[in-house]
Amino acid sequence: MKCISCEKETSESVQFPCPKCGEKILRCKRCRSLSLEYKCPKCGYKGP
Ligand SMILES: [Zn+2]
Ligand SMILES: [Zn+2]
Repeated sequence: MKCISCEKETSESVQFPCPKCGEKILRCKRCRSLSLEYKCPKCGYKGP
């Protein structure tokens, strides 16, 4: 399990589908609370 924003292994993560292509995106709690930007590895969609 790797966070998509900070690329660190994480146990406390939140998973959600990409709004554009539905690919599963994984983010750790820290990045979520900081609202760090993520990028979908499949379609390149960027979101907060
Ligand atoms: Zn993170
Ligand atoms: Zn996507």
